[in-house]
Amino acid sequence: MPPPPIKNPDVKYTQAFINNEYVNCVSGKTFPTINPTTKQKIADVQEGDKADVDKAVESAKAAFKIGSEWRRMDASKRGMLLMKLADLIERDMGYIGSLETIDNGKPYKNACVDIGFAVEVIRYYAGWADKITGKTIPINGDYFCYTRHEPIGICGQIVPWNYPFMLFILKLAPALASGCVSILKPAEQTPLTSLYAGALIKEAGFPPGVVSIIPGYGPTAGAAITNHPGINKVSFTGSTEVGQLIQQASGMSNLKRTSLELGGKSPNIVFGDVDLDAAVAWSHAAVMENMGQCCVAGTRTFVHESIYDEFVKKSVAMANNRVVGDPFDEKTQNGPQIDDVQFEKILDLIESGKKEGAKVECGGEKIGDKGYYIQPTVFSNVQDNMRIAKEEIFGPVQQILKFSDEDEVIERANNTHYGLGAAVFTNDINRALKFANSLQAGSVWVNCYLAITPQAPFGGFKMSGIGREYGEYGLQDYLEVKNVVIKI
Ligand code: NAD
Repeated sequence: MPPPPIKNPDVKYTQAFINNEYVNCVSGKTFPTINPTTKQKIADVQEGDKADVDKAVESAKAAFKIGSEWRRMDASKRGMLLMKLADLIERDMGYIGSLETIDNGKPYKNACVDIGFAVEVIRYYAGWADKITGKTIPINGDYFCYTRHEPIGICGQIVPWNYPFMLFILKLAPALASGCVSILKPAEQTPLTSLYAGALIKEAGFPPGVVSIIPGYGPTAGAAITNHPGINKVSFTGSTEVGQLIQQASGMSNLKRTSLELGGKSPNIVFGDVDLDAAVAWSHAAVMENMGQCCVAGTRTFVHESIYDEFVKKSVAMANNRVVGDPFDEKTQNGPQIDDVQFEKILDLIESGKKEGAKVECGGEKIGDKGYYIQPTVFSNVQDNMRIAKEEIFGPVQQILKFSDEDEVIERANNTHYGLGAAVFTNDINRALKFANSLQAGSVWVNCYLAITPQAPFGGFKMSGIGREYGEYGLQDYLEVKNVVIKI
């Protein structure tokens, strides 16, 4: 059970967090953060830019200097600081969840689930802090050879708005567990919970300069991070287009290591031999959760012709029953979309689906004018070449496509430049394994969807990204391997 919400939470921090202090940005400028449920301004937030990133890099350099408190800290103590941070987040879950709800629009109970998951991620990585070990390697007997796994250094971490607090923590936890230092930029739409985390990071006892948080826009503050020659690694979650820019800027500045978690158009394939109600419910959640604003949403639902009509009928009933409304109401399943840009983009894609000949089975319209609300929408008769079957919609819009046989649907599922997630629903183990082997995606789920855990890797094939987050793989992305050879 989540703690009771605070319906009008005070906004405590709107400044940048550098060197364990909240400070005004050098630009003197601010930007508004908007509540998508009401379209009203919540607060003006300091707008960071290159000069603020420079300051953060200076404090990060001091924190990461050989001999600094952070570099000398016992690895177990690093783990304990992370454990403390997890406890503080749990203590403040009601406040953080409420702040996330007004800044992002997601239902309060879902915000609390995200925060609970963030706590699990921190505790998972806290356990790794003192278990990062190298190897001794047998070579010519006149030499002693071993490896050290060292922290990469100063990490720039850029996150989007769809899971603001959870993704902020997902970047931070493995970086700190591995001994790196972080400069984080939250999305301009949702800076508030990340900024609040600064106070908890200080309270947990992390030394100054280990974490900086710079609110601001992508092309200014974000680009200053990716172009900075003093930053050793960039980890980014967001659109494929910006991911390409980041990869380019990271390469051209100082060959930063990059981890990219990008977009998707994930296929979800349902055969006729399954429990139909369960498959409909999983497929509905795969695309409607978080108002469809999920990089790995199962937006191409491929359904076998033997159950197609029944599946569509049941999916429509679920979409019609989905409760859309006030995110603080316990019954609400969908709040508003994040902002006017996404709202208009989704409506435009829905229109394109109608024009290209797909059938709107339900929804397809905005709801009222107060917030960025869109009806849960189901399209049938969707063809592979339609925009709604090719482009990432990032909204509560399900596309149901028909297929006849295994090889045909594998080819169609893989016919995209994305490769983030994929699912198959079947009771045939041979078929399940064939699909697990054949689908080009970083995660393949069988008879379930969105089964993401702190322990197992997550990331993209093809243009859905580079590198992996979560699990031991996510930690390795923050470590350099050094080989040491000693002549005996
Ligand atoms: P975006 O990629 O524009 O922004 C994500 C983050 O990158 C934000 O913090 C933003 O400020 C920053 N950024 C933007 N331009 C930058 C630049 N040139 N240099 C450095 N940082 C920069 O994503 P968006 O505008 O929030 O959403 C657009 C689309 O991205 C969505 O429709 C969706 O397709 C996709 N998206 C994917 C995810 C995901 O989890 N994979 C999350 C959010 C959005």
